[in-house]
Amino acid sequence: EAKRQGKHRYAQFVPIMDLKLRKRKQLEIALRQAINNNLLELHYQPIFSCAEQKLLGYEALCRWNDPTLGSVSPDIFIDIAEETGLIEPLGRWVMREAIREATAWPAELFVSVNVSPKQFYRKSFVDSISNALREHQLAAHRLEIEITENCLVLEPESASKALFELKEMGVSSALDDFGTGYSSLSYLRNFKFDKLKIDRSFIEFLHLSDDDQMLVRAIIEMSSSLGMTTTAEGIEAAEQLQILQQLGAHQVQGFLLGKPKNAMTTKQHCMSELLSAHSAADGD
Ligand code: C2E
Ligand code: MG
Ligand code: MG
Ligand code: MG
Repeated sequence: EAKRQGKHRYAQFVPIMDLKLRKRKQLEIALRQAINNNLLELHYQPIFSCAEQKLLGYEALCRWNDPTLGSVSPDIFIDIAEETGLIEPLGRWVMREAIREATAWPAELFVSVNVSPKQFYRKSFVDSISNALREHQLAAHRLEIEITENCLVLEPESASKALFELKEMGVSSALDDFGTGYSSLSYLRNFKFDKLKIDRSFIEFLHLSDDDQMLVRAIIEMSSSLGMTTTAEGIEAAEQLQILQQLGAHQVQGFLLGKPKNAMTTKQHCMSELLSAHSAADGD
């Protein structure tokens, strides 16, 4: 009886798996084409100082709008790219494109680039960044890389070696999605990031939850005493921003302050932000 049931379940299980795999295979093929035909795009989301909302830089976020599949979320295609090795060409393209685009912005602005584990662990990773910076003549201090805790678990030693080499070059590093990974604190002991990005899930209910406020306060205090700045991600409401100001967060990012926009719009955005900042300063 048990065996028959087992067999029955197995029979149901196969077609579903099959469908998922076929769908993934289809996405993989389309993604490979998109990379080869230069169909990916970068959007840029502004990052501001928390105290006075001064524009500081942008995070580059990859976009894939496929002619037949429509727009695919990076949460899905980055995952596929990681599994299939496509992250290598994709990541290389993202890095070079973000660096190139940042040269069109005022020199006080930084660009922040997400890097996934497979990309980060490549031996050539640090060299390829230094080549791209040199080729496009972008000052190293204007580049920041964002990695998640997943980038640290597999080979903590080679991870911290790469991070030190980047630091030596003048490139900043941020720990992204902080608080959502498995083990957070030991990583902060082994390597000092320049910045810690507090995950959106801690911000979402900040104005409604005392516990979340306590947690965010503790994260900000801890990272400050370790010499890191904090960026709060995913601010959608004015109340959230106000609380973050009271808690002393350094930088803020979220739909309330600016959504990710394409390169052209970003160029216009940073020019007008800077002009209005200057005229505000003149007024004083
Ligand atoms: P992330 O690095 O944590 O990026 C922040 C995500 O939150 C982005 O989603 C952004 O659009 C979204 N976001 C920003 N502000 C708000 C807000 O106020 N409310 C809400 N609901 N969402 C907000 P996106 O662009 O869909 O990217 C998702 C993830 O995909 C990124 O999370 C990052 O892990 C990955 N990703 C995106 N582009 C790249 C890339 O070029 N390379 C790599 N390796 N990963 C990337
Ligand atoms: Mg990020
Ligand atoms: Mg994040
Ligand atoms: Mg994320």
